[in-house]
Amino acid sequence: MATNMGMNTPIWNARRTPSLAPSSTNPAVANVLMVRARPTAVAGTPRSFTIPLIDTLKALNDSLTGMAPAGSLLWDKLRRSTTSGPRTSDLENDPAGSCRPSADLVDWSAMTTYEELFENNRRWVGESLARDPEHFVRLAEGQTPKFLFIGCSDSRVPADQITGTSAGEMLVHRNIANLVIYTDMNLMSVLQFAVEELKVEHIIVCGHYSCGGVRAAMDGHHHGLIDKWLRNIKDVYRLHRSELDAIADADQRSRRLVELNVEEQVFKVCSTSIVQRAWQHEERALHVHGWVYEIAEGLIRDLQVDPAGTTFEGAAGLYDYDDLG
Ligand SMILES: [Zn+2]
Repeated sequence: MATNMGMNTPIWNARRTPSLAPSSTNPAVANVLMVRARPTAVAGTPRSFTIPLIDTLKALNDSLTGMAPAGSLLWDKLRRSTTSGPRTSDLENDPAGSCRPSADLVDWSAMTTYEELFENNRRWVGESLARDPEHFVRLAEGQTPKFLFIGCSDSRVPADQITGTSAGEMLVHRNIANLVIYTDMNLMSVLQFAVEELKVEHIIVCGHYSCGGVRAAMDGHHHGLIDKWLRNIKDVYRLHRSELDAIADADQRSRRLVELNVEEQVFKVCSTSIVQRAWQHEERALHVHGWVYEIAEGLIRDLQVDPAGTTFEGAAGLYDYDDLG
């Protein structure tokens, strides 16, 4: 350790900047909970479907219009294959029903078709040009975002919509359960680019309640390849096991793990040489924040994570680098 950075005076203390006050962004736009029911059918019949495409679409259409017989196996298969969140078997172990929106909350009439994506795009271009004829030309010249948003891949957590930001304002990286994994070259490359090249001023780790990834990490079931990813969430649970095990209600326990997971990922962001180098050698401030998004309300909550304070007691100095060039 450097002489001016003993184990009790981590670099985080020296250059830590306070977290922002609870978000002052626009009131979050309420998300319409939608289930995508035609993810691949137009592009081609998925190999796993052995029935002809036309039959698939017809049955799907019948189902959407209420004509399908109750309990249709096909419909059930499609529904399960196209909804986010855990499998039905997992939902049966989720009495609180918080893994995903219930069928009653799904707005089928708002479902966007594949073709409508292009129609929507052309309309959006027209509207954007009507407001500002140079909008896209200016965007093409480059980007200077102030924010890096690390969030969950969940379709119900659109970073730009919930923060009221426009194209060019926020660099976004998303993965299942907003994890910061040191060997994830994807995220680490984004982080380096954001901090060293774009020189963002704020890094935001944003989790969300009702996170299917977090719930899946808690249910004890084997989910396949993704288990290796979810194991990182189990590690967070282990770090806080006494607190979490003491929460009897499964939904409340899940919500708390969502928060603790965000805190841990903030910690990991701060412990990278990328961020610490910026704190040591850059005059500008670099803030790191932990947020949780409440899907059921549309609101963001700032967890006020303090990387150098009590949040990570026991880690002081342990992750500091004293010889960053
Ligand atoms: Zn999630």
